[in-house]
Amino acid sequence: MNMAGYLGNKSDNVVHHLAEMTPDCKIVQIKKSEKTYFIPDTLEEAIKEKFIRCKYCIQS
Ligand SMILES: [Zn+2]
Repeated sequence: MNMAGYLGNKSDNVVHHLAEMTPDCKIVQIKKSEKTYFIPDTLEEAIKEKFIRCKYCIQS
C-alpha cells in the first residue's frame, strides 16, 4: 500500500495526519477494521466525510 497522508478512525471519527502523528494519537491502538483512508487523501475530504481533526497531529 502507498504511504497515506491521512488516517481516519471509524470508532471515534477522528482523522490523523500520519506524517505528524504523536504518541498521544494512540494510532497503534486503532484496530485494522476501524481504519479508513480517504480518496483523495486530503484533510478536506476527511472533513467532508464528517471526520474531526485530531487535536494532537492536525493544527487547525
Ligand atoms: Zn493524531
